[in-house]
Amino acid sequence: TKNVLDITKIPNAPDSLKALLTQLQQEFYVSDEKIDQMIKSLHEEMTDGLKKEDGLLPMIPSYVTGRPTGKEKGTYLSLDLGGTNLRVCQVQLNGDTTFELFQQKFTITKEAKEATLFDWIAQCVDIFVENHKITPDAGKTFIPCGFTFSFPVIQTGIARGNLLMWNKGFTVPNTVGRDVVLMTQDAFMRKHLNVKIVAIINDTVGSLMATSYSHPDCQMGIIFGTGTNACYWEKVENIKKWQTQEGAQPEEMVINMEWGAFDNRLVNLPYTPHDNKLNRKSQNHGLQVFEKMISGLYLGEVIRNALLWLIDRRELFNGRSSDILNGAYSLDTAYVSAIVADESSDLSEIKLIFENTMQISDTTLLDRQVIKNVCKLIGGRAKRLSAAAMCAVLLWRPELLEKSISVGIDGSMYQFYPGFEESLIREAKRILGEEKASRLTLTLAKDGSGVGAAIVAMIVCRDT
Ligand code: BGC
Ligand code: MG
Repeated sequence: TKNVLDITKIPNAPDSLKALLTQLQQEFYVSDEKIDQMIKSLHEEMTDGLKKEDGLLPMIPSYVTGRPTGKEKGTYLSLDLGGTNLRVCQVQLNGDTTFELFQQKFTITKEAKEATLFDWIAQCVDIFVENHKITPDAGKTFIPCGFTFSFPVIQTGIARGNLLMWNKGFTVPNTVGRDVVLMTQDAFMRKHLNVKIVAIINDTVGSLMATSYSHPDCQMGIIFGTGTNACYWEKVENIKKWQTQEGAQPEEMVINMEWGAFDNRLVNLPYTPHDNKLNRKSQNHGLQVFEKMISGLYLGEVIRNALLWLIDRRELFNGRSSDILNGAYSLDTAYVSAIVADESSDLSEIKLIFENTMQISDTTLLDRQVIKNVCKLIGGRAKRLSAAAMCAVLLWRPELLEKSISVGIDGSMYQFYPGFEESLIREAKRILGEEKASRLTLTLAKDGSGVGAAIVAMIVCRDT
């Protein structure tokens, strides 16, 4: 079956253009067979990652072993460091599966991303705690805080973990391999803040925990955003690399997969020359190769590469580009969403985007049709691969699909990319079968990172 639209079907397109579009279509087309093969190989990498410290996938034990019941009560502080913003939140868990969240959003400065991150975080927390007059509970000397950190951390405890690497454009020196909680706590100390990080979690874990608060059948958390990743509940007996730890074994634990690193060996993923170009020029060449095919940070860039390829062959914009379009990462994925959503007969939204933001003012209708089709092709691949990864994890624990099951999802691709959720559902029906897919509920884990960290902080304070 053909799952992608035929992008070569543009009326009035000359044969030379059609030939190039046919080539793009062949490169970016992913067959059902390829998807099935990907799922198999994702399972192999999961097995390897659960066995070894340096396995094919990180498969990081999160030290989260308890599920919320929805009855938890109290007010907790949490931090959510994403790729673009830091949110400082005060979360009030009402004890009836609902919560209130007060937050302040700080856009992460370039300087913070490249140098001063932890002191900058401390400064934001200081402002928030001052503004909201937050003080420790009676009899306590510090305010407990959960920290959602959207980068890979090899955890050694619920509030311990060493940074594996940066991605999403962060390059803070002398931090890789060091304990993220200690670095943050030291910065708090320098500012005399009485805030204590009691838990650090990945943002996927935040989505899972936040969704669990209102959907007790939640088994998996996913981020389809600037970056991509997933976590799920695993039986501890299956986490071979973790079993030698002493103390009483919990029955299950959330595993942070770091699936953006899937197939870093590039033996399975259908990488095209346009993907390779992006990968080579990226800060983390050879790493996060799956993430580079599907997440918001990169999607626009793969498309930009393909558009430039057409321009160089004089089949788009009459062979002319602009300084902006020539610049790396100038085609933001938010524009791609708007381009794909443009249903007007003269594609006027696409015209505006290229005029106003890309400095290309004289697009023809044919140009705009080509742009839209290329975006749909490459965006469609992202949607299908995203669905495949989700289904692979659901198939990993097939017993879970015998009853109703929820997945908590957050991120800009899931929220704003046209038809993203529909595609997840459509592919789930094909891959899992109608019956199993009908037991699946996908929910938006809105503010999941902030709420999830507060819930884990609460569980830690409750259980210790
Ligand atoms: C990071 C993950 C994170 C994901 C989604 C990836 O780049 O490695 O830790 O969960 O982005 O934010
Ligand atoms: Mg986030």
